[in-house]
Amino acid sequence: MRVVVVGSGVIGLSSAYNLARMGAKDVVILEKEYLSYGSTVRSASRFRVHFWAEENSKFALESKKIMVRLPSITGWNILVTTGGYLWLLFNEDEVKVFRKKNKMWDRLGIAGKFLSPSEIKERYPYVYVDDVLEGFFGPQNGSCFHNYVAFGYYKAAAKLGARLFEKSPVEKVLVEDNRVVGVELPGGKVEADVVLLAAGAWTDGLLRNLGINLPTEPERKEVALTEAYRYFIEPLIIDFGTSAYIGQALKGEILGSLEVPVKSGLLPLENTLDFLVKWARAVYKRFPLLRGARVMRCWSGYYSMSADSSHIMGRDPDWPRGLYVAYGDSGHGFMMAPLIGKLLAKNILYDEVDELMRPFLPTRFKEGRLIPEKLVIG
Ligand SMILES: Cc1cc2nc3c(=O)[nH]c(=O)nc-3n(C[C@H](O)[C@H](O)[C@H](O)COP(=O)(O)OP(=O)(O)OC[C@H]3O[C@@H](n4cnc5c(N)ncnc54)[C@H](O)[C@@H]3O)c2cc1C
Repeated sequence: MRVVVVGSGVIGLSSAYNLARMGAKDVVILEKEYLSYGSTVRSASRFRVHFWAEENSKFALESKKIMVRLPSITGWNILVTTGGYLWLLFNEDEVKVFRKKNKMWDRLGIAGKFLSPSEIKERYPYVYVDDVLEGFFGPQNGSCFHNYVAFGYYKAAAKLGARLFEKSPVEKVLVEDNRVVGVELPGGKVEADVVLLAAGAWTDGLLRNLGINLPTEPERKEVALTEAYRYFIEPLIIDFGTSAYIGQALKGEILGSLEVPVKSGLLPLENTLDFLVKWARAVYKRFPLLRGARVMRCWSGYYSMSADSSHIMGRDPDWPRGLYVAYGDSGHGFMMAPLIGKLLAKNILYDEVDELMRPFLPTRFKEGRLIPEKLVIG
């Protein structure tokens, strides 16, 4: 079976690795720019198991198990930390919904802990809590280094025979007699029996060329990083009021983002003063000791947003045979990638639809079986 994977982000690479590991002999990864140019290495590199939709929590839990074992699989130390996530909640409604969800998380074995403002202050004296009603702490959550996850997958896939071609933009998927026969690039064609579109936020365009319209759209997100400090912010802190998230990165930089109103679409990968000012204000308010901290770097990337904010994987039987997708991960695709790649490889090679994967099939939109996910960060 000749497989073309379009896109060398973490999802394409995890899929390519798993396909090669499960015996696919001819796996080609086509990347329009260079290895992991897209959202993967622009992400905040965090993982969590707490989602409001049970399907997402279950999926993330299994994905995390693979993620933390990746060093023994790929040989790359991905620098896992588990400082947890701390959500700061400001009103009764927010607390109520977290209490309800915590019952579901408890059933899944991933209950978190509610903290009063004084308990937060005791654990994390640097956080301003005067306006906080309660906190929810998820100790199971953490971070790792996105580059080493992606490069590790790439190296492991290459060792098994998968081939990567950079500067190879796929222009369209070629279909004959309702089955995929390859892809077209500016310089020619690559023949294939299977084409997996894992092109992140750019997947919409490739699908539309085939007359397939799934309810997804790219949304640009911005991130900022300050100068480095001694390590002191253990969890990722998510301010439910401003939507800001703030954590500490590998070298000690304060890293984070917050939502600013933006038009959807593939906007230029730039940064705005609006974002920077709002994020800086949110940081100063929550961490008064960071007043005067200097921002060293900003960048932006795309969330591939789906209509229900849950990822999309697999195929619709009405599509040309051999066509698969993995995208629409709405800001949580990095953490889901280890399991997406594994289950998708089984789906492609053995036509197996795992129970954890079934809810995320692209057919859910026309069947009205959405997985509404409201706990999107950033
Ligand atoms: C600011 C920010 C913070 C984030 N933080 C987190 C986080 O903390 N945790 C988390 O789980 N997720 C996070 N995410 C989301 C996460 O980064 C993505 O869900 C994930 O990286 C998606 O991986 P991917 O492989 O699908 O896409 P990408 O990494 O975008 O890779 C797609 C690749 O396809 C290539 N491509 C596109 N079109 C073509 C074409 N026509 N031909 C060939 N190649 C093509 C692109 O160049 C790109 O390299 C964040 C995203 C952003 C933007």
